[in-house]
Amino acid sequence: MRMLITLIWSIILVGCSQIEEPKRQIAFTFDDGPRTSGPIFEGEDRTEALIRSLDKADIKSVWFFVTTNNIDRENNNGDARLKRYMEAGHQLANHSHSHMWFNKTDTDAYIADMDKARDLLANYGETRPYYRYPYLDEGRSVEKRDAMVAALAERGMFNGYVTVDTYDWHMDALLGEALKAGHDVNMDMLRETYVNSLVQSVEFYDNIAQEVLWRSPKHVLLLHENDLAAMFIGDLAQALRDKGWEIISPEEAFRDDIAKYVPKTLFLGQGRISAIADDKGMAREDLVHERENEDFLRAEFIEKGLLPQAEVKPEAEPSAETP
Ligand SMILES: [Zn+2]
Repeated sequence: MRMLITLIWSIILVGCSQIEEPKRQIAFTFDDGPRTSGPIFEGEDRTEALIRSLDKADIKSVWFFVTTNNIDRENNNGDARLKRYMEAGHQLANHSHSHMWFNKTDTDAYIADMDKARDLLANYGETRPYYRYPYLDEGRSVEKRDAMVAALAERGMFNGYVTVDTYDWHMDALLGEALKAGHDVNMDMLRETYVNSLVQSVEFYDNIAQEVLWRSPKHVLLLHENDLAAMFIGDLAQALRDKGWEIISPEEAFRDDIAKYVPKTLFLGQGRISAIADDKGMAREDLVHERENEDFLRAEFIEKGLLPQAEVKPEAEPSAETP
């Protein structure tokens, strides 16, 4: 009898293991491009490196949320670079003209800045009608928030929200700081730190999603058009695939039902999943990942030998480097 039960149990277990779990899905988006030279690459070389890395990783479509006043910056070759991204099969969307902070800007001026970017992007043919708020600041008062929601709707545009907020931009700045200080940066350690940090953020927000939605939504990962991405995006894709993730296009990701969700909260700076979780009453301190913190990342870089132990005076935060 016992043998029979064991046999039946084994058959059930084998059967279950063969039911394939649906893959969790995530899309990559890059903000602030075409950015000027970074710690490793001139802008033009970064664009070519990023296109090559995406191609090699078999990532067919990513979106670049363009900050249009970067296009004509000196020696930036921004116009040609945006065309290169499109030729490579990727898409452009709106990240404003001058990367204003909504809570520090008059609503009319803010909307005019978005429109200016929209007009400039019209030069590139078919771009995506999505707007990504600089600093993910969707308005800190009901009036401001609702004014932009209405402005987007009037224009037939959509909120290019993220589900996974990251501080990849700060890791890129820390690399710049290390190289400027003449520090010998171990690139393998840097790769590992970048990849692990982002994978942890992805898992963090997916866990919250599963708690509040009872499912893994199609995710939208916030990245920046920076040197770390150009070097390591293939490694990030591989690490995610190893954990059962599928890389999908942003077009597909924005078809998830959460795209239709209109958050009631003003707690919007960590992306859509956090906003939904806040609406459902989860504690706010549980909705921000520890890596969304400049001091945490600095300490980690020092601990891993990616920054010198000695006190390095942090540079002032340049506006183009910020999310
Ligand atoms: Zn930005």
